[in-house]
Amino acid sequence: MNYEAVIGLEIHAELLTSSKIFCGCATAFGAPPNTQVCEVCLGMPGSLPVLNRRAVEFALKMALATGCRVNPESVFARKNYFYPDLPKGYQISQYEQPLAEHGHLDIRVNGGVKRIGITRIHMEEDAGKLIHSEHRPVSFVDFNRTGVPLIEIVSEPDLRTPEEAVEYFKGLRNILLYLEICDGNMEEGSLRCDANISLRPVGRAEFGTKAELKNMNSFRFVRQALEYEIKRQRALLDAGKEIIQETRLWDAAQGQTVSMRGKEEAHDYRYFPDPDLVPVKIADAWLASLRQGLPELPAARSRRFRDQYGLPEYDAEVLTGDKALADYFEACVKEFPQPKQVSNWIMVELLRELKKEEAGLAACRITPEALARLLTLVEKGTISASQAKKVFEEMWAGGQDPEAIVKEKGLEQISDTGALEAAAQEIIKAHPKEVADFKAGKTKVMGFFVGQLMRQTKGQANPQLANEIFRRLLQK
Ligand code: ADP
Ligand code: ZN
Ligand code: MG
Repeated sequence: MNYEAVIGLEIHAELLTSSKIFCGCATAFGAPPNTQVCEVCLGMPGSLPVLNRRAVEFALKMALATGCRVNPESVFARKNYFYPDLPKGYQISQYEQPLAEHGHLDIRVNGGVKRIGITRIHMEEDAGKLIHSEHRPVSFVDFNRTGVPLIEIVSEPDLRTPEEAVEYFKGLRNILLYLEICDGNMEEGSLRCDANISLRPVGRAEFGTKAELKNMNSFRFVRQALEYEIKRQRALLDAGKEIIQETRLWDAAQGQTVSMRGKEEAHDYRYFPDPDLVPVKIADAWLASLRQGLPELPAARSRRFRDQYGLPEYDAEVLTGDKALADYFEACVKEFPQPKQVSNWIMVELLRELKKEEAGLAACRITPEALARLLTLVEKGTISASQAKKVFEEMWAGGQDPEAIVKEKGLEQISDTGALEAAAQEIIKAHPKEVADFKAGKTKVMGFFVGQLMRQTKGQANPQLANEIFRRLLQK
């Protein structure tokens, strides 16, 4: 049987406000445990939450950037459950009346564009963090994260492959970074993804029973977990068994998903409107001014890269698909105004090195200014393009100045006509047979002569100049 996967993502993003969503405690990551807490975020009886306006502003920006309809009035609700990282016994979230609905994100798949629906974006507070001791059978609770503002972005079940899911997730992360409302750090948990997935026979309209996958803190894990889950569900269906609705955890060490809880253990959250918080009313004027103040977003920047820099669509998409990369490109072009050259170096050399290290641009040890200086050396003919690649590798390894590396390694191209001509004459003298061949019309031996000169100069002869010199000398 041929199956098609149906995937929907629920993405949680911590907002970059300096204080928490319902109190004034700091949100900075990495502080000593339980130093950023107060009676409100600890859920002490009698304390009252007050909504952080900046958190709403950030959530609204995301809603606008993804084409959502913002509800004029939304309501905070209590999601009731017990867990040691949740001192109140409920999480303040939104349920029936979320902040925004009916948005979308366009992703690129197989050279085309596909629109993925966004069901809703709502606001909620984060929970604390449990720290399990390695030495004793003891767990600790850090409440610093309790009350950090989150948005949850729920997609429609429009995704069909793990690749589409990752593209969509990357696209959302990119927008969050463009808006500067989330740091996008998946390892630290500022950006998290739950993936829902089911299979159905190709051609069938109804969806199958889904599993919800959790605990994937990188794009690679999202892809791997979904791929694993497709295989697991297919094997069950092929064997005539049923898929049970459950929550499964990605176990990166084992490379598999494992059952966490089934439908029977699913929580009944008993949502109800939080009586401590008034409904959130969004004034039209506020929304309009936020819309106006939105920064240039990836799609617009990609268009501009094509118009302003004359880049092919592919380059523009890759570069703007990562805000840091696009910033890097523009900083480099400012110093070396040949956009396509800069783009080639970034897309080929730089991205290759980053891929090797599986790192983001933050790991890049070459500043855009240094790359621009390297390209200037090629432009001026000081080094050849192939030598520049070696210099690039040195820069990557040691982060030094391109000029210093060229000097230290003696890579400077010899463009001194006199010196090259003298060496060329020696070579001609030593190879009468090849000279005769050339004169008999075998112009291919030109490659031989240039090669000899290159060898003698350890690759430093300016190849164009070497060609010219031989042509001139041999035609005499
Ligand atoms: P739940 O009630 O379990 O929370 P929802 O209907 O709210 O489920 O959907 C949660 C997420 O799961 C959404 O992203 C949605 O697109 C996705 N989803 C819903 N049904 C399916 C399905 N049958 N297969 C895959 N994903 C699904
Ligand atoms: Zn607090
Ligand atoms: Mg739901």
